[in-house]
Amino acid sequence: MQEMAFTDNGVLPWFLPLAFVAWAVQMIAYHGIGLAFEWCDQHKYLRSCKIRDVDRLSYRQLLPRVLANQVFLLLPAMLFMQWAGLAFVGTPHLTPLRFITNMVLIGFGHDIVQYITHRLVLHRPGLMKPLGHSLHHSTGASKSISACYMSGADFFLEIVLPYLIPLALIGGGGSDILFHCLVASLGAFGGLYEHSGYDFSAPLPKSWLGRTFPRVASVIALLITSKAHAEHHRRGSVSFSDGFGSPGICDSWFGTRWDKINDEGRPVPVLKPAASGGPATTAS
Ligand SMILES: [Zn+2]
Ligand SMILES: [Zn+2]
Repeated sequence: MQEMAFTDNGVLPWFLPLAFVAWAVQMIAYHGIGLAFEWCDQHKYLRSCKIRDVDRLSYRQLLPRVLANQVFLLLPAMLFMQWAGLAFVGTPHLTPLRFITNMVLIGFGHDIVQYITHRLVLHRPGLMKPLGHSLHHSTGASKSISACYMSGADFFLEIVLPYLIPLALIGGGGSDILFHCLVASLGAFGGLYEHSGYDFSAPLPKSWLGRTFPRVASVIALLITSKAHAEHHRRGSVSFSDGFGSPGICDSWFGTRWDKINDEGRPVPVLKPAASGGPATTAS
């Protein structure tokens, strides 16, 4: 039934593979959200959240390489997965339990695969330049669209594989349009946000919530901060998994979480609660 691989969704016409639809939705999400962040940059909106602004390359200068990666690497890889029957095929409707389980497993899988490719391959001293990861590190995680500004090898190892390998391992996600579009869009948002220079947790400590319920505010801050990947760009030696939206399992397990190591590379001493007067915050 190989020839049915592109046509068995039952909803989409035969000439429209689900992999292409998911890619197109991701493009709309990526470039729509990317433009929204750019618009905020241009018009100086959300200033209380803009905590990094170091990038010199403009949106126009970053865009061609980003598009090339997405069109010539991501799209063919996604179409291949469907053609090979590894993803985007099968049941058109996941059960709610399967849907949620898949989302969780994809999060874990992404964390693990990205940690391997990012820390063990791309950051290996002898491979940093040949594979071009230094190009991505020439940006400062303060312009959203720079999330995919990287060499082709880097993009394949850090974006394509951590997305598609876990997807195949959990059974490919069926041909559930909502599931695939959601995964693709959430992935786009996470990458854009953590490279945007905005940190939505920054105003929390001084907000009404932060003053009234500091502990609640600090938990929310921990969940929504974009600090992890920013610290990765600043130091290069911490937080190798995707920061925002990632469970950070590998960084916690291998002791490379940004908040566990100081700038000298030594473990951060654990503070006793009494020693910290104000609400804990991840934004500084
Ligand atoms: Zn980055
Ligand atoms: Zn890196």
